[in-house]
Amino acid sequence: MGRVCHHPCETACNRVQVDNAVGINAVERFLGDEAIRRGWTIEAPPVTSGKKVLVVGSGPAGPSAAYHLRRLGHEVTIREAQARPGGMMRYGIPHNRLPREVLDAEIDRILTLGVTLETGTRVDDVLAAQRDGGFDAVFLAAGAGIGRRTYIPAGDSARLLDAVALLSGMEGEGPPLLGRRVAVYGGGNTALNAARTARRLGATDAVVVHRRTRDRMPAHDAEVAEALEEGVRTKWLSTIAHADDGRITVERMELDETGFPQPTGEFEELEADTVVLALGQDSDLSLLAEAPDLHVDHGTVEVADGLMTGHQEISAGGDMAPANHTVTVAVGHGKRAARHIDAYLRGTSYEPGPEHPPADGARLNTSYYSDAPATVRPLLELARRVSTFDEVVQGLDESTALFEARRCMSCGNCLECDNCYGVFPDNAITKLGPGKGFAIDVDYRKGCGLCAAECPCVAIDMVPEE
Ligand code: FAD
Repeated sequence: MGRVCHHPCETACNRVQVDNAVGINAVERFLGDEAIRRGWTIEAPPVTSGKKVLVVGSGPAGPSAAYHLRRLGHEVTIREAQARPGGMMRYGIPHNRLPREVLDAEIDRILTLGVTLETGTRVDDVLAAQRDGGFDAVFLAAGAGIGRRTYIPAGDSARLLDAVALLSGMEGEGPPLLGRRVAVYGGGNTALNAARTARRLGATDAVVVHRRTRDRMPAHDAEVAEALEEGVRTKWLSTIAHADDGRITVERMELDETGFPQPTGEFEELEADTVVLALGQDSDLSLLAEAPDLHVDHGTVEVADGLMTGHQEISAGGDMAPANHTVTVAVGHGKRAARHIDAYLRGTSYEPGPEHPPADGARLNTSYYSDAPATVRPLLELARRVSTFDEVVQGLDESTALFEARRCMSCGNCLECDNCYGVFPDNAITKLGPGKGFAIDVDYRKGCGLCAAECPCVAIDMVPEE
């Protein structure tokens, strides 16, 4: 996650009121790398429940569910169609964003818990697989691995390829041949990954053709910025009308009053040896054909709150379920599904604990915090970026990671700064020792609210007496 997550959590960080958001993602990556470097492991509990769960797919959602189910005492088997585990983390996200030795180490840690992984084992019929294997529950995490196609009139010798085929081909015996000039059709992160990969494979010209404008493209800003630095060109407000040997015809679009792109009838030609289609992915739902209770809507499996499908004992998550297609969501789905499956197997229902109320940024005493601008993660030098698949974004060293972690203002959580202790009159507050916080003697306090007002991080709330 410290590598591939686009860290939307940082947009909610209260630290922006002082300088910039805490680099949560950078710290997370440091911790992940530290865990691998030091060989941190997790205790494998014995299988106590006597229940067996089948997980279909080894992308982020599947192993996340397997990890939690195993720790909850169940026997878990992951079946994976591909030769190696990881899903789109291996067959989509390029090496320069996620080195495979990191992915392998993370998956190994989960397998070491006693999770069984069967690769090269496609599940063709989910009900038959459940029945034949004697599984008490199934978690479907088969992702969305089929590159979406669109009709582009093309001459016989035009070379069209989808982005998933290009990127998964990078895991094969030899990279696909693209030629010197590559046009990528689409505006998401996959399009940019494909264009950046084309540059690394030797394309002197990699152009992303997108029918909208930059501010309306779904790709993340950092991904766009890095691609532009690497020499990827963009052609906004354009669609590909025709592809032929070595060239494509592009139609200029303009946005109507609702912001939707409309054709203009104006065309131009661009040179392109290969057209890579990056128009999104669909799920292969053929394994559900014999399961009539499993409902599909707009190409995804319908799920209820706990990710349960219409068929008891089967739940689904990650890209197969209706949600944002990100690794974060997939990992979260795995965890949520595991809790509900566990409860189902035990004949109970899972009730999430109460959520912490959000720490109100307006109540923070930001003057107690000193300026400490966010650490900027270094990038690999440009020349190496475009000629190798080495990792682009570099990690933090230990002292920088500690500095970055200390920028956290601990919103809503006592950081034992002693402010309340200092302002409280009449010894009404006692220190309990490091990490234990304070005890407030309600018989002595006066209700003046000074402690709450002087708390830097909104850890004290005043509530009316009964
Ligand atoms: P997947 O990762 O797709 O894994 C599903 C697995 O199930 C696959 O291994 C597949 O082989 C297996 N499978 C399918 N059918 C069967 C079957 N019948 N039997 C057995 N196994 C089966 N997200 C981010 O958060 N950050 C990024 O930077 C990012 N970059 C991306 C770049 C690209 C090029 C792509 C394509 C996606 C990217 N994503 C990114 C999205 C992210 O990878 C997905 O949202 C995430 O991997 C979905 O996880 P999943 O477990 O649902 O499915």
